Amino acid sequence: MLEKMEKRFDPEEVIEEFEALTKDAKRVQIETLKKILKENGEAEYLKKWGLDGKTDPESYSSCVPLVTHKDLEPLIQQIANGAPHPILTGKPITTISLSSGTTQGKRKFVPFNDELTETTMQIYRTSFAFRNREYPIVNGKALSFIYGSKPFKTNGGLLAGTATSNVYRSEQFKKTMKEMQTPCCSPDEVIFGPDFHQSLYCHLLCGLIFRDEIQVISSTFAHSIVHSFRSFELVWEELCSDIKTGTLSPRITVPTIRNAMAKMLKPNPELANKIHEKCLSLSNWCRLIEELFPNVKYIYGIMTGSMEPYLKKLRHYSGEIPLLSADYGSSEGWIGANVNPTRPPEMATFAVLPNIGYFEFIPLREIGADSQDNNELESPSVRVEPRPVGLTDVRVGEEYEVVVTNVAGLYRYRLGDVVKVVGFHNSTPELQFVCRRNLMLTINIDKNTEKDLQLSVEAAAKLLAAEKLEVVDFTSQVDLYSDPGHYVIFWEVSGEASDEVLKECCNCLDSTFVDAGYVSSRKVQAIGPLELKILKRGTFQKILDHYVGLGSTLNQFKTPRCVGPVNQMVLQILCDNVVKSFISSAFG
Ligand code: AMP
Repeated sequence: MLEKMEKRFDPEEVIEEFEALTKDAKRVQIETLKKILKENGEAEYLKKWGLDGKTDPESYSSCVPLVTHKDLEPLIQQIANGAPHPILTGKPITTISLSSGTTQGKRKFVPFNDELTETTMQIYRTSFAFRNREYPIVNGKALSFIYGSKPFKTNGGLLAGTATSNVYRSEQFKKTMKEMQTPCCSPDEVIFGPDFHQSLYCHLLCGLIFRDEIQVISSTFAHSIVHSFRSFELVWEELCSDIKTGTLSPRITVPTIRNAMAKMLKPNPELANKIHEKCLSLSNWCRLIEELFPNVKYIYGIMTGSMEPYLKKLRHYSGEIPLLSADYGSSEGWIGANVNPTRPPEMATFAVLPNIGYFEFIPLREIGADSQDNNELESPSVRVEPRPVGLTDVRVGEEYEVVVTNVAGLYRYRLGDVVKVVGFHNSTPELQFVCRRNLMLTINIDKNTEKDLQLSVEAAAKLLAAEKLEVVDFTSQVDLYSDPGHYVIFWEVSGEASDEVLKECCNCLDSTFVDAGYVSSRKVQAIGPLELKILKRGTFQKILDHYVGLGSTLNQFKTPRCVGPVNQMVLQILCDNVVKSFISSAFG
């Protein structure tokens, strides 16, 4: 009976636990590895590598190889097909997560289990406890732009859905949100609705109905918040009319959503007028969120990595409301929590929780300088890489690729992310996200990462800002059909920019890639002039719709920053929507 009593959530207790774990990170890692290997000792995969019951880190790293998703794909496929034997885990896997696939153009199947949900809740509670010290929440609600994709059954009858949907569907998620006093203001019918355009509209409507109670505005990735308020700009009058009359717009056609919303929507002309007036008083929607939601303490979502380009617009909408960057994880499992919430989002760091997985780090410093091979991740065997180091052996200032061993059957799995160690919290490292490792613009000796592209776009976008225009979103491509090959950058711009300014932007993009390999190749024309292609308004919405059509959810959507040949559909959308193009003359 006693065990059944609900344990109350005490943020200070959570912090105490976190401090204890991180003070003893090395021992906790050894214990975590031991637990994972013991629980899965019967898995064929581990048996194959001859661990013979050994659970220490040295035996583990000498017996079990580093792998990528590609290596494990056939095994995960067998699991999805319903193979009855223990392939990767001791206990059968009953659920499959789908990664967003927006970075690679292809969605990945990843094993999922209840323990992963547990570790997700641990991360949520930990970062919340630290946030709550600075920005306490009392009896609030959250306007959370979250979406659950419809689960489907794999050939073998396993439940499959996006990782975020698997979490949002769980009872633990709702319980944790309640404990944090920020339950989502929208009903389940909206979160799990079959049409994300309709769900998004209703999320906004629910937010406005509960306007005074909303204390947090959140989404998994910041893109979704920006996207939601861009949509608000288009539908605000309709939303006001719904609130005024108490009748839902005919654009909502899904019966379950209509029924659920009907229970919440009552005529409230006073509220409708107030929102209407506020919207009319704003200049270019500046400080929109602050005006609409007077009691919001902060805006929360992942704002680092490929989300950084949306910060400018988010700041524009949020005014003085603090922006707090969320934790670091993936469909393959969580890695670290943001325990320094007051840092600006660009500086956010993630303290690794040493009991949620076993972590190794491949040092990257030596790689690159003398290397012509940009494809290490795809073909690890062709080059000798430095040996991975353990969680507590990483060095401040160095960059690493993250290797994960998790509670759901991934062993020494290369996540493909590059992180930088910027300090330690007790004995666990604090990481900064740098970029995806294989997202590189490269033609010969040049190497430009997603971050380099972002910096270049930021610099060029300043020229647009002078014309009161902004880059709505961007992506890139390496064009090898031309001789020599060249970089192509695609921009969607918020309005009509003059050709003169766009030409300047194009030159600026070309000259701001500072990578020595790029600059020298451009000088000798081994790489051709950069091309800037301007897209029709709404092109990135089409790309998002394309991914959602494939079964991805808005939660995990990340605009692909470099579109490779495997991503034919997205390339097609881009090419079909180019309205103008410019060729750089930056190198004469
Ligand atoms: P998904 O493929 O949808 O599971 O997304 C996981 C990927 O999103 C990670 O491997 C990272 O590349 C990225 N990601 C997750 N959390 C963060 C973060 N806090 N900052 C930057 N990028 C992140």
